Amino acid sequence: MRVRHALSLMFCGLIVGGIATAQSTPPQPLPMPASISVPRDVPYAGSIQLNVDATDIDRHIFNVHERIPVRGGGSIVLLYPQWLPGNHSPTGRIESLAGLTIRAAGAVIQWTRDPVDVFAFHIDVPADATALDVDFQYLSAVTGAQGRVIMTPDMLNLQWSAVVLYPAGYFARQITVEPTVHLPSGWQFATALEMSSTNGGITTFKPVSLETLVDSPMFAGRNFKQVDLDPGGPAPVRLNIFADRPNLLEAKPEQLAAHRALVQQAYKLYASHHYSHYDFLLALTDRMGGIGLEHHQSSENGTVPGYFTEWDKNSNERDLLPHEYTHSWNGKFRRPADLWTPNYNVPMRDSLLWVYEGQTQYWGYLLAARSGLLTKQDVLDAMAWDAAVYDNRVGREWRPLQDTTNDPIIAMRRALPWRSWQRSEDYYSEGLLIWLDTDTLIREQSHGQKSLDDFARAFFGINDGSDVPVTFTFDDVVKTLNRVQPYDWATFLHARLEGHGPGAPLDGIVRGGYKLVYTNTPSSYFKDSESSRRVTDLTYTVGMVVGNDASLTDVLWGGVAFTNGLTIGTQIVAVDGTAYTSDRLKDAIENAKKNPDPIELLVRNGDRFRTVRFNYHDGLRYPHLDRDAATPARLDDILTTRN
Ligand SMILES: [Zn+2]
Repeated sequence: MRVRHALSLMFCGLIVGGIATAQSTPPQPLPMPASISVPRDVPYAGSIQLNVDATDIDRHIFNVHERIPVRGGGSIVLLYPQWLPGNHSPTGRIESLAGLTIRAAGAVIQWTRDPVDVFAFHIDVPADATALDVDFQYLSAVTGAQGRVIMTPDMLNLQWSAVVLYPAGYFARQITVEPTVHLPSGWQFATALEMSSTNGGITTFKPVSLETLVDSPMFAGRNFKQVDLDPGGPAPVRLNIFADRPNLLEAKPEQLAAHRALVQQAYKLYASHHYSHYDFLLALTDRMGGIGLEHHQSSENGTVPGYFTEWDKNSNERDLLPHEYTHSWNGKFRRPADLWTPNYNVPMRDSLLWVYEGQTQYWGYLLAARSGLLTKQDVLDAMAWDAAVYDNRVGREWRPLQDTTNDPIIAMRRALPWRSWQRSEDYYSEGLLIWLDTDTLIREQSHGQKSLDDFARAFFGINDGSDVPVTFTFDDVVKTLNRVQPYDWATFLHARLEGHGPGAPLDGIVRGGYKLVYTNTPSSYFKDSESSRRVTDLTYTVGMVVGNDASLTDVLWGGVAFTNGLTIGTQIVAVDGTAYTSDRLKDAIENAKKNPDPIELLVRNGDRFRTVRFNYHDGLRYPHLDRDAATPARLDDILTTRN
């Protein structure tokens, strides 16, 4: 009944809107309300006390109390973070803030939400007030359908940006916060914040700027292990492991050795560090939502439960830590000038994400290979797959890579019906191909004397030990490349960022001494990925990916499945008259190589069944890189451990 009532109200609204009351003059715009104070680089007087109660793990509720010092009367605007670092987009979950109550000297005072900026709350402060007591809940997702689940019976992920209101008008680095957290009893935690005291299950941290607070999330949980990754190094680097079950924490010595080697290989590459200590937060779970999010002095990494215990099955998870660690240098320390913002309610601009994410994707794979987290063959297979993805990404014909840097804001990672045509955050992996192109070109031009490693040292290796961001522009990237190896890098980069066209930028693979080929056997890296994604990936065969429930999870624009009218969600019922299995379809595809008959599929969309015929006879196709002996094996050197 209530649903029907709500629905009829919705229809009412539409109808009223449609036949709007007659007016004698056409409408004119109402003036906008006064804009909210822009942030200034001046200190906010006093410290904000922020107390987070994270004990309600059954209901996934964070209870928040803040005491915000104020001086005299007048109006104040409190902001809830909207533009989140690392997300590069306005992904703050304002709808999850509830129960907002504000008091001054014990009396409740009214708040009003800004009618334009719904992340802003206006408050009239009484003349004699010295502080506002602010209470609210952050109602985190209770199921995956509502967003990422961040509380489970065994662990939680606290992001301070979700549990803080802060005064408008100040740079985040000028607002001081004294945070405390109350965790379920017996739980341990890890964060880059420095502890000041613990009392009765409540931990108090040293006062920090709002900027450092938001950049220092916490993982906490029942099952925990901490590993020192760099004993005696220039700054502590710790691997903080949380898991659904205690046995998942068991890591073999050689697995930990590869993680320790990651730190050393990063230091050889970047010749610097930009933290006073670094904490990998690593959750091994299939209950808490996955994550990979970078910070200056830590990273949030959520991955498969069997990260250690089923090491051989999870190779495609093992560039996660090298990627997020690299961001401490690329993205956090060196920050695109248009991406850096003074607080979390100023829009970000993403034009340089092909450096921030694209080069990090590149270094992530290289450091994984150089540290032994991945084998050289795994990385070659991963790069073959990237090359195949972008070689078949037909959206390149209408949309240049540069434009995809807007995708965090345009698409906000919503599911897309035609990803290969729409494109989606392609600056990550197509960006990787451009940096491989750049690296091999530097090597070729310098006759092997220089490489992109020299760029990394020059670009990220400045101000060793400092974590104060240094911003950069396109011209800064070009200038540093020119210092490493003179070349017309501006034209080179513009052509790849703004060009169109069939086929991916594969020059780096060719100059690296390899070529992209397809065979009828997947690499073990590709197979691992199919099993972790729970799919049969036939993208390069008939242009579709079939989920383990026989429904399509992706269809390549212009491919065989597309031509036959199949879409995401289409279910394959039968292959050549027999019930669908993944192996039966693959057998039919291989058999059709020597048989002129089409492959006949019975498919279903909702209650509509139909038969489609794939006139396809090229057999199974999986991407690989083949060594080309005519060119030096530059890619082999790129992936080799540095001494
Ligand atoms: Zn990244």
